[in-house]
Amino acid sequence: MCQSYRKVCACGQNTSEIFFGKMVLDEKVVAEVYCPKCSLPIDPKQDGRVWDNGWVLQLNMDVVRIHAPSMGISPEDVTADWVFDNGYATWVGMTPDDFQKRELERSEIQKLAKTDLRAYINTLREWGLNREKRFVQEGWRKAKTS
Ligand SMILES: [Zn+2]
Repeated sequence: MCQSYRKVCACGQNTSEIFFGKMVLDEKVVAEVYCPKCSLPIDPKQDGRVWDNGWVLQLNMDVVRIHAPSMGISPEDVTADWVFDNGYATWVGMTPDDFQKRELERSEIQKLAKTDLRAYINTLREWGLNREKRFVQEGWRKAKTS
């Protein structure tokens, strides 16, 4: 079973969905999430922050260090970037609000299924491929590492 957790960003205008891989960490590790609107004034160098296209996932590093041995890394070596890139605390989709956008886009395409099944299948396939390309172009962290 995998756990996911929705967290509203610091300014309250956006929601991210976070996934905790391998059931090591849970929502207690998430200190704060900043969207591109509210991440501007924060310090990019502070410990415990993962930056992704203007979004910031701020982890509680005390909690991270406690769980470091369960993740196969020493408490001294573990960083927020490492936790994110290894999937212990990461976005559910490719981007923080992918889960919302994906449903919107898919329901648009779904309308085609009622009128033209073949067009629907083709559109759906193209949509999947284009999404991947778009995420790489936009430079999302998970699109680059995977
Ligand atoms: Zn925000």
